[in-house]
Amino acid sequence: MILKNCKYIVTQDKERRILEGYDIRIKGNLISEIGKDLSGDEEIDCSEKIVMPGLVNTHAHLGMHSLKGICDDETLFTWLDIVNKEEAKLTKEQVVKNTRDGALECIQSGTTCIYDSYMYGAERIKVFEDLGMRAFVSSTVQKIEDIMHVENMLKACTNGLVKPIIAGHSPYRCSKEVLEKITELSRKHDLIRRIHIAETKKERDDTLKERGLTSIKYLESFGFLGKRCLLVHSIWVDDEEVELMGKYGASVSHNPISNMKLASGSVAPVVKMIEKGVTVGLGTDSVVSNNNLDMFEELKVTALIHKHHWDDPKAMTYQMVLDMGTIMGAKALGLKDVGSIDFGMKADIITLDLNGMLPMNNVISNIVYCANGNNVVDSIIDGKIVMRERKVLI
Ligand SMILES: [Zn+2]
Repeated sequence: MILKNCKYIVTQDKERRILEGYDIRIKGNLISEIGKDLSGDEEIDCSEKIVMPGLVNTHAHLGMHSLKGICDDETLFTWLDIVNKEEAKLTKEQVVKNTRDGALECIQSGTTCIYDSYMYGAERIKVFEDLGMRAFVSSTVQKIEDIMHVENMLKACTNGLVKPIIAGHSPYRCSKEVLEKITELSRKHDLIRRIHIAETKKERDDTLKERGLTSIKYLESFGFLGKRCLLVHSIWVDDEEVELMGKYGASVSHNPISNMKLASGSVAPVVKMIEKGVTVGLGTDSVVSNNNLDMFEELKVTALIHKHHWDDPKAMTYQMVLDMGTIMGAKALGLKDVGSIDFGMKADIITLDLNGMLPMNNVISNIVYCANGNNVVDSIIDGKIVMRERKVLI
């Protein structure tokens, strides 16, 4: 397959090059050549399109898709009470349907790789495999018996495109014993372990009171921190904790829209985290706390919230934001060959029309500040076209 006459290719390669008028050859699931005057059996005309790496969503709960709009304008703990009651009524069939509906919304708005956490992991793995979407899937663990799901999920993955993650809910929903078991299993199977952490001041204060440690130091105390560790939210962390996150090579999923909507009360110190070597990706969280899955909104809001918070327009640049939405997000999920358009990388690519983006004085600025999910025209995942001219091909 050839992406022909690309008006712009936002490569996200090491030099962050933007190429004009080039072609991209995709062979199997890889990008095999970037050059001029390439030809092949199947060509997609990109002469009026921006071609860029697909976006990576590092935190979602697609199984909640039918609950959009049921609980707005509440703080996290009230929100959890209300939402958990509605979630208890969801059948397995509804969760599978919600996951599919959510995944379709993701594909249509430019996400090619997602980390999705909810119930019925094995059934949800099949949804992503059927759609041909790159995904990491977990069933959220709260009690020790929930951990049994991990073996089932490992068996359920059949095509290499979908992989499991072991996810503890949070320090207030999981005992230390459960979190220790998650750590052990993650090491045994070389899987990413994930936790919602330091999302609210109350959670931070409670952990300090009950465990005598700040949130990240608590995780360190039983070996949870490490390269295969994904910390979701990480808002209420101090400089010492940020230092620790960097020291252990941990990754963070930053979800600014969800955090603002649930009034988490502060801003995750992502700028400091990146300085300390923490890998930070972006996530939408669920549609009940966002309320959509459009990662372009997350790009823009990430740029704005950090400029505003630090009273410094240079605190978060558009390039850094795009990195977080592509290569850093992929790295946070343990993927080294996803997130840029370069020789030998996996072909996870989207194309955008130029609506609302002219004049094109700065391509990346326009992607971050002007584009939205409706600009996405085509989506290619692992070398296969999953959406062509906005029509999902399944
Ligand atoms: Zn979550």
